[in-house]
Amino acid sequence: MGRTKKVGPAARFGARFGATLRKRFADIERAAKAKYRCPICESKRVVRKAVGIWECRKCGYTFAGGAYTPWTRLGEAARRVARSISRRASA
Ligand SMILES: [Zn+2]
Repeated sequence: MGRTKKVGPAARFGARFGATLRKRFADIERAAKAKYRCPICESKRVVRKAVGIWECRKCGYTFAGGAYTPWTRLGEAARRVARSISRRASA
């Protein structure tokens, strides 16, 4: 294959869909296929199992996260809200 420096994993689409879209797709897919650190066992073995479902290949810990990354800014905000609500409920 020729030069795929810019589009990386989106190179498989050839000339289709336009360069901008392919570049955007490449960024997202790179993030989705990367390995992340497990919040339980700390090993870098968390992989995307399905959209929004992440699993640690070492300890088996499975959790809900973002569609393309295990943690999102919106998810963090939601966690904060959930924590403050549960604190209020128990007080
Ligand atoms: Zn783990």
